[in-house]
Amino acid sequence: MSTDWRLQGQEAFLKDIVLYRRKYTPLRSDWEHDHCEFCGKKFSAEIGDETEGYSTADGYHWTCRVCFADFLQKFNWQVVDIDTQEMLTQQNE
Ligand SMILES: [Zn+2]
Repeated sequence: MSTDWRLQGQEAFLKDIVLYRRKYTPLRSDWEHDHCEFCGKKFSAEIGDETEGYSTADGYHWTCRVCFADFLQKFNWQVVDIDTQEMLTQQNE
């Protein structure tokens, strides 16, 4: 397997965790945007930026839809819809 340029040690804090599918909202009122942890794509409320994606429970780390799809299996994420609290991924026993 070739190494993807987007992978830079995110396993340390993003492997085997639950991600929440949600609209982008800044973590604090004096922040207006974040970046995808993998490709650096910008999240904000502005047109042209990513307005929804996948974040950690604390809203600190964000992943865009493309990187989410690419790394879902590698990082073994469980995914929950933030609005319905519904588990979106299959649980393997
Ligand atoms: Zn990305």
